[in-house]
Amino acid sequence: MNIALVAHDKKKAEMMQLVIAYESVFKQHTLFGTGTTGKRIMEETNLQVHRFMSGPLGGDQQIGAKIAENEMDLVIFLRDPLTAQPHEQDVMALMRLCDVH
Ligand code: PGA
Repeated sequence: MNIALVAHDKKKAEMMQLVIAYESVFKQHTLFGTGTTGKRIMEETNLQVHRFMSGPLGGDQQIGAKIAENEMDLVIFLRDPLTAQPHEQDVMALMRLCDVH
């Protein structure tokens, strides 16, 4: 499967716990991630991640394009609902494409 991994800043520690706990599962799949999330995953595990741009710079939309083209099978997005995001519209657009597809 093609799996996208995205975590807002205050959720990155939880994302690291998730990918470390399930590293043996994730290594059987092709991983994608927004810039900083992907970088951290590669630093803290032996997993390879195809990195898009950072979320606020367009990474969420790049993942959305993959979803629209039916090239993404699963999205794991750990969102921070308590912090205002400069790219809130991009987050909403990504979630909408997940619902559509
Ligand atoms: P980041 O982007 O992994 O580059 O921090 C995540 C996001 O905020 O959408």
